[in-house]
Amino acid sequence: MSIAENLQNVHNRLPQNVTLVAVSKTKPVSFIEEAYAEGQRIFGENRPLEMRDKHAELPEDIQWHMIGQLQTNKVKYIAPFVSLIHSVDRESVLKEIQKRAAQHDRVIDVLIQVHIAQETTKAGYSIDEADALLNSDYLSQFPNVKVVGLMGMATNTTDETQVTSEFDKLNQLFTKHQSSANLTYLSMGMSNDYPLAIANGANMVRIGSTIFGSRN
Ligand SMILES: *Cc1c(COP(=O)(O)O)cnc(C)c1O
Repeated sequence: MSIAENLQNVHNRLPQNVTLVAVSKTKPVSFIEEAYAEGQRIFGENRPLEMRDKHAELPEDIQWHMIGQLQTNKVKYIAPFVSLIHSVDRESVLKEIQKRAAQHDRVIDVLIQVHIAQETTKAGYSIDEADALLNSDYLSQFPNVKVVGLMGMATNTTDETQVTSEFDKLNQLFTKHQSSANLTYLSMGMSNDYPLAIANGANMVRIGSTIFGSRN
């Protein structure tokens, strides 16, 4: 199957209100060009230098989404152009995004990453920490950072009950704060679990291998 066909198949399974982030990490520029020719404009990367290099080679109307855990010393490479950072998981990252966004006279949209999985290797604020953060006025210290939603990754398991309960937990947090905190996006779901994520409230999905093929 071609990238074009894979993309079409994914689109056929997405409701109208769900935004697709095509996760192109590790894949060559030519793959992104193929998806771009089909109309895809949002691409997800997890390494700042790789994103910077691809951004330099590809059309300016691509919206680049950072989905990987960020080292603070690498925020500067993406700050001039990044469209949405899904992976704000600690205060040092917030501070650095604020600093770099201000240098470029931009407001950078971000999602708060929330830890909902069982694996401890996955990053993010706990549900309680994210809840407290959204209840406080702490975020007003970062005028060049705009929190526009939440992101989460479920446990990598075939146990659908487990995955459903994790997505549902994050959806409840999202719904609770949606209007008061002005949240727009709930980013949940990858190749192996996006239908479940959508069934549990996701309106943004991050899909890589189903579109571009498996990674090494
Ligand atoms: C790699 C990655 C994805 C995409 O994973 P696939 O299984 O290839 O769809 C989604 N979200 C994050 C945070 C990732 O790192």
